[in-house]
Amino acid sequence: MKNITVIGSGTMGNGIAHTFAQFGFNVNLVDINEAALQKAIATITKNLDRQVQKGSIGEDVKNSTLKNITTFTDLVKGAAQADLVVEAASENLNIKLTIFKQLDDICPASTILATNTSSISITQIAAATKRADKVIGMHFMNPVPVMKLVEVIRGYNTSDEVCNAVMELSKKLSKVPVEVNDFPGFVANKILMPMINEAIITLNEGVAGVEEIDTVMKLGMAHPMGPLQLADFIGLDVCLNILRVLQDGFGNPKYAPCPLLVNMVTAGHLGVKSGKGFYDYSGGTKELVVTSQFKKK
Ligand code: NAD
Repeated sequence: MKNITVIGSGTMGNGIAHTFAQFGFNVNLVDINEAALQKAIATITKNLDRQVQKGSIGEDVKNSTLKNITTFTDLVKGAAQADLVVEAASENLNIKLTIFKQLDDICPASTILATNTSSISITQIAAATKRADKVIGMHFMNPVPVMKLVEVIRGYNTSDEVCNAVMELSKKLSKVPVEVNDFPGFVANKILMPMINEAIITLNEGVAGVEEIDTVMKLGMAHPMGPLQLADFIGLDVCLNILRVLQDGFGNPKYAPCPLLVNMVTAGHLGVKSGKGFYDYSGGTKELVVTSQFKKK
């Protein structure tokens, strides 16, 4: 595999394009929004500069990485020669179904079609194509150039050959791939989201405050970040959507999102991206926002 098409140039798409290009692949980065493509190249350049400053890559690798990336707003032009497509467009079922149906028509029969979805069924996305054996989940973590894990998700019809090819390819990116089956939330979010939800329930019940909960989990469990701060980083709307996928998919009330999370999302408090969540980021720093009935005795 040499030619990789990445669809969607947002938070994840720019990181995925950066990583493939850094390891010598030809990358076509496709987005419907020209401004998003320009922003992605600026972000990739900034992140490469940081890698050069840290000494993890040289100027030559920075330059070859940028040279390996071509941007497109036209999916047909961007995907026609792809050996592998990694779709990282917005987390919306209809958007993904439309893209995969188009890719099935555009790409050669041998092209593997991967999605970076956090929560949508790979089997359902594959059903939009006539090549369900070649559709797979390739779930990178944010920030992609830094995080080692790729959760490789086998849809119901994904072939062994395609799964093995994606596992091997992930290793060529210096990542650690882990193979999992296609169930709601896969492994990462099936475990992470109930923990985040429980932290919000704990806050809502007044058991402890925001900083107290995060400190217990950080220092007590050796997590690099507390669950409430992590939720702010992921986006509270994203957390809410994934919890709903888990609740619907397993039909189990244990995944029901905490009403405080629902309220915060409804009020537009989405975390870092909106400037305010469990903490306030609007001043460029991280300040505590009091969101609970917790009172120190
Ligand atoms: P984002 O909103 O930052 O970027 C999405 C991009 O997709 C936008 O630039 C948008 O213009 C583009 N887009 C929308 N429709 C398109 C189309 N039809 N064709 C081409 N481009 C299109 O989103 P993101 O956070 O990068 O998430 C992308 C995917 O990665 C989602 O499926 C998400 O669940 C998954 N994911 C996100 C994270 C995370 O931490 N943000 C982590 C793992 C997986």
